[in-house]
Amino acid sequence: MTKASASHHTAVTDAAEQVVSVAVPVPLARSFDYSCVQVPARGVRVKVPFGNRALVGFSLGSPASEATAASAEYKLKPVAEVLDDAPLLPEAVWQLLHWAADYYQHPLGEVLAHGLPVLLRQGEPASYQTTQGYRVTAAGAELELNELRRAPQQQRLLAALRNQPLLRRDITAQEFSGAALKALQDKELIESFQHSPQTDSDWSFAIGSEPLQLNPEQALAVAAIGAASKPQTYLLEGVTGSGKTEVYLQAMADVLRKGKQVLVLVPEIGLTPQTLRRFQKRFAVPIVMLHSALTDRERLDAWLEAKNGGAAIVIGTRSAIFTPFQRLGMIIVDEEHDSSLKQQEGFRYHARDLAVVRGQKEQVPVILGSATPSLESINNVAQKRYAHLELTQRAGGARLARQTVVDIKQLPLKGGLSVPLIEQMRKELERGQQVLVFLNRRGYAPALLCHECGWLAQCRRCDAYYTVHQRQQMLQCHHCGDQQRLPKQCFDCGSTQLVGRGTGTEQLEQTLAELFPDYPVLRIDRDSTRRKGSLAKHLTDAAENKYPILVGTQMIAKGHHFPHVTLVALLDVDGALYSSDFRAAERLGQLITQVAGRAGRASAPGTVVLQTHHPEHDLLQDLIHNGYSAFARSLLRERQLTQLPPFAQLALFRAEAHDPQQAQAALNAIAALLPEHPEVFVLGPMPAVMERRAGRYRYQLLVQCQQRGLRQQLLQHTLPRLSSLVELRRVRWSLDVDPQDF
Ligand code: ADP
Ligand code: ZN
Ligand code: ZN
Repeated sequence: MTKASASHHTAVTDAAEQVVSVAVPVPLARSFDYSCVQVPARGVRVKVPFGNRALVGFSLGSPASEATAASAEYKLKPVAEVLDDAPLLPEAVWQLLHWAADYYQHPLGEVLAHGLPVLLRQGEPASYQTTQGYRVTAAGAELELNELRRAPQQQRLLAALRNQPLLRRDITAQEFSGAALKALQDKELIESFQHSPQTDSDWSFAIGSEPLQLNPEQALAVAAIGAASKPQTYLLEGVTGSGKTEVYLQAMADVLRKGKQVLVLVPEIGLTPQTLRRFQKRFAVPIVMLHSALTDRERLDAWLEAKNGGAAIVIGTRSAIFTPFQRLGMIIVDEEHDSSLKQQEGFRYHARDLAVVRGQKEQVPVILGSATPSLESINNVAQKRYAHLELTQRAGGARLARQTVVDIKQLPLKGGLSVPLIEQMRKELERGQQVLVFLNRRGYAPALLCHECGWLAQCRRCDAYYTVHQRQQMLQCHHCGDQQRLPKQCFDCGSTQLVGRGTGTEQLEQTLAELFPDYPVLRIDRDSTRRKGSLAKHLTDAAENKYPILVGTQMIAKGHHFPHVTLVALLDVDGALYSSDFRAAERLGQLITQVAGRAGRASAPGTVVLQTHHPEHDLLQDLIHNGYSAFARSLLRERQLTQLPPFAQLALFRAEAHDPQQAQAALNAIAALLPEHPEVFVLGPMPAVMERRAGRYRYQLLVQCQQRGLRQQLLQHTLPRLSSLVELRRVRWSLDVDPQDF
């Protein structure tokens, strides 16, 4: 990152003044100089005037000498306020953020701001406020839980609070509603108390519940991590249900016992309550969760508890990778393959990759866990950069599901279901088992078709069809959110013969209810879980086999375990087989394996049915017969042959504008600035997969080379020069280093 320190005010010198260089949160790859009486220490927040605004930035200390000389000719604006007595971030996090700004070529000021909770970005003092906690009263401790059966939310919450008192923020995180909380309070079953900050001395290590007896593979993994002479990164590759979490827990115990803190990254908020409960059961230490449901105040408090050493364990999503710790001892990244670990807008970092960097910088072990590791991590194992720990057996004796294929070429489909599948489901249901049908498309139908003339209802702002939402009688664009009343007539020919084309989960639910009237269906997707608390309830109901038939999207593919499910069907896997996205095959393998992993226990092993038009496809065959691990390694060889990541380093410039020519012109201007190099390939500008979205035309320019160092040099050379391009002023543009989806 260039720190071309520049001044932005013309006047005369005042020699007595000192100069401080400040990183301000603006999309410019440079810092700005201000005058001050005394230079605030590097890393201290300062409030500075910027244009007609006041911004909170970080002091970078005195500017480099040439810049000071230059600024002597100008009158600098003074720093308005120094906000901290001492640098706010520990050196390790400060370094990590600098590293990330450089690697992702994102403006330092914005990256540093990203490392802070919102209140600190706004200039609030870094001080803790007591927050509210809740605990049971004597009456609440005695009440027969069954008396609350009419109010399941209250019942669940009371049970949780009997376990242990909880902070308000953790209650929200576990998807309990404010109403349930208030109701229990009104009944005087629970009471609130003031929770004071967890400070350093507040916790000591204690085991809550006894650890499980490890199987040999688990024991080997835990021993390897504990015995390492110097900290390193581990890929814990364990089939679904193999007990990876137990490995995490026992590896963590050693770290916590030494009084050190552990950071656990999970792909999404939906998984945090579940993970939290398991961790709370095992360890009687303060556990803090960082996730998007926290209020700004709660987030700051949680952040401070980590920084002050009061939190023993921090569980968080992607952005928690920047959490400061007083004594970090280990980082765990669960579901390391999950694409939600990569931020897809603004500062586009990958939390897994930053975890590895942070582990090296802070000299702590990093455990990357997954049943379906990314090809990047598998390659890092092959290159001996990561140590490999394998769990090949399901813990507790459960067997992995058997995978089968149904060729649906020329088979009639009923709401997306083939007759052989329907029959198989019937058998399973009649035996009292649970079935799960996976379809990654919510809504009633992915398009609305005129039966007379073939017209399809297309979003007016995107190159995409509207999804039919039958129950709401709406058309909805899933790309820009645009909504319309469901039309009664074709826009082209006026016919009233409008039908949904294809199947979404809403229709599937309806079809299943008609096919199997005796077996209640539960649908879990974004539409059925909008109400607060409903996702948690649905997942519990599903796991407890209250519904023999489950229908779900992506939401159920991750982490959750449904022990009563013995048949898993994936209705449509064809899209990914012939996708232009080079990661599509990897993603499909991960998805199938993860969904398949939701099923089965020791007494009733599961079956997976994949419906496809291409049963002979090499990828499917490889996955079914050889398993994800072998499948992924053959994909990796293919990537090597085709020189794609991880065997190539990519950077993607994107530009979008209402006028497609402006977007193209912007990328052409960038391309012209890229220095020529025999080992660098530049592709484009080319249209994005969905060229028009929300009314904007989207283009991209791909930069590809073999050496990471070369890519960095190239970007470092080019980025500072972009601010002079007038073509960029008319478009929205961005740079994505290691792009995931394009
Ligand atoms: P993963 O995270 O690999 O999917 P989990 O850690 O959730 O797997 O473990 C799956 C199930 O196996 C859990 O119910 C867990 O309690 C159980 N389990 C894990 N390790 C053992 C073990 N060593 N002995 C018995 N049960 C175990
Ligand atoms: Zn749209
Ligand atoms: Zn028509």
